[in-house]
Amino acid sequence: MKCEYCKSIATKKLIWADGRAFVPICDDHVTKAKSEIRKHGKWADVVGVKKIREMTLAEALIEYKVDTAISGACFDLLGYLTTRPTSIPVGADSLCPPVLERFLAWAKIRGLSIDDADVKHWEHVLGRNLMQ
Ligand SMILES: [Zn+2]
Repeated sequence: MKCEYCKSIATKKLIWADGRAFVPICDDHVTKAKSEIRKHGKWADVVGVKKIREMTLAEALIEYKVDTAISGACFDLLGYLTTRPTSIPVGADSLCPPVLERFLAWAKIRGLSIDDADVKHWEHVLGRNLMQ
């Protein structure tokens, strides 16, 4: 989480609006944040300051690397599929094997193992449950 007022990693949350809102800040922007919060009238009291713990390596990998890697792979695959010399239809009325063949060719080029591809639960690694 970044500081609200600079590009540094936030180290604290200033909690305000009777505990219903917070502003992530770095150590250098405590005064600035309090000053900005005071502009919000009757909700302007800072009711707490909570230290933000550092993310574990696993949490950082999940938040940044896995998401980035998955979305990058998807774009890379789309780029591969849309630059083949011949087109194949893709859609509900299309056959699956030609699309699968191209996916397998892309995976082979990229050295991506698909032996244990987790189609049903991959989003759980990202802390999401979207496929219901
Ligand atoms: Zn800052």
